Amino acid sequence: FPGDSTIWDDASALDKAHVFHSWSAQGKVHPFEIVSGHGSTLVDGQGREYLDFTSQLVNVNIGYQHPRVIEGIVEQARLMCTLGPGYANLARGRAASLVAKRAPEGFSKVFFTNAGADANENAIRAARQFTGRDKIISSYRSYHGNTGAAIAATGDWRRKPNDYSRGHVHVMTPYLYRSPFFAESEDEECARALEHFEQVLRFEGPDTVAAVLLESIPGTAGVMVPPDGYFEGVREITRKYGILMITDEVMAGFGRTGEWFALDAFDYEPDLITFAKGCNSGYVPAGGVIFSDEVAHAFDERVFPGGLTYSGHPLAMASIVAAQEAMEEEGIVANARRVGEKVIGPGLEDLKLRHRHIGDVRGKGVMWAVEMVSSRDDKHMLDAATMAAIHTKAKESGLLVDVHDNRIHVVPPCVITDDEAKAGIAILDEVLTATGC
Ligand code: PLP
Repeated sequence: FPGDSTIWDDASALDKAHVFHSWSAQGKVHPFEIVSGHGSTLVDGQGREYLDFTSQLVNVNIGYQHPRVIEGIVEQARLMCTLGPGYANLARGRAASLVAKRAPEGFSKVFFTNAGADANENAIRAARQFTGRDKIISSYRSYHGNTGAAIAATGDWRRKPNDYSRGHVHVMTPYLYRSPFFAESEDEECARALEHFEQVLRFEGPDTVAAVLLESIPGTAGVMVPPDGYFEGVREITRKYGILMITDEVMAGFGRTGEWFALDAFDYEPDLITFAKGCNSGYVPAGGVIFSDEVAHAFDERVFPGGLTYSGHPLAMASIVAAQEAMEEEGIVANARRVGEKVIGPGLEDLKLRHRHIGDVRGKGVMWAVEMVSSRDDKHMLDAATMAAIHTKAKESGLLVDVHDNRIHVVPPCVITDDEAKAGIAILDEVLTATGC
């Protein structure tokens, strides 16, 4: 393009000129150049460091530039950069076995995808093929990805302009702070949410429903940790009607909640588990579906009608193997749990004591939401201008946080240290004071 040579070394100018951004009005994008990172820190084009409480799109669980993962990718690149999904390959077999190992007993096989959306897409496909039914029930407060069925299953605004896929039904799931069921305790919320779920199922016709698809902890929607008994209850109801259960571990999986899978903290087994992000922290795009043996065996003689050119891509597989091994050897999941329990949880609760616009703090591990309200009595969402000011002020102070609607999401890499977590919370404290919260 004419003129490009003048901006060839200017990332922001090139971005403005040629990059079409996701989920954005293109004229309102403000390029923010990042050139490198280490651990829980990102480095911008001017060499300025930021403590990262976002893990980018909540995917960098192992932190930036982990040497084991880089080495794993480089070694595999030297050996074989690309290989179609039909061939056997050691990196792919190892990655599948390491991922399946984290699922409950009786989950042996993994179908690899490029990311989380196509993982959900293929889990939905498997459930529809397995049951011969069509409908998928998911939660109104959810995000499952930006492909056909995954975005139709999504329960936030992003679904509406993309609502072309049929056969999707939504329910309300537990959220005690803004209870859709007028509940006053977790037990009441759980019981009423289950009653609502079964009623919707009955009115839809249970024999038209293939599967229920739920995030184990709804992430982007606001980190609503489900009450004890909710998943167990959903499982019981789905079994009663021969409906499959798909657990979306794309964001919550691989250490984020201080467990390998967030579902480990509950007492139920789904039929299909979808994963992506934390399996290799996005060093190479990857995701997949872990199949229970029962569902997998249904396709022993019958063709599974799904596939991708890059399913099980060797570089992605090598990065999964290296990331999984490093996470295990370095105790990274245990670190996420400990930092959550000892530093982040108490630190955010302490902020709540001192900042009157914090309405609720919830989460576990390194997956937290701070819900901001104009007043604790009416719980009205804090205005967008103040939320934007919090975001900007934090960035100016060297801290990256996610702001969604009226919430600040605190979702650092699982490798964050106690000191880093304390430093980030101290910055947040100052930012909340400076923005009048
Ligand atoms: N499922 C959940 C719970 C997610 O949070 C996301 C992405 O944020 C997805 C699915 C989609 O994953 P991807 O963007 O890798 O397609």
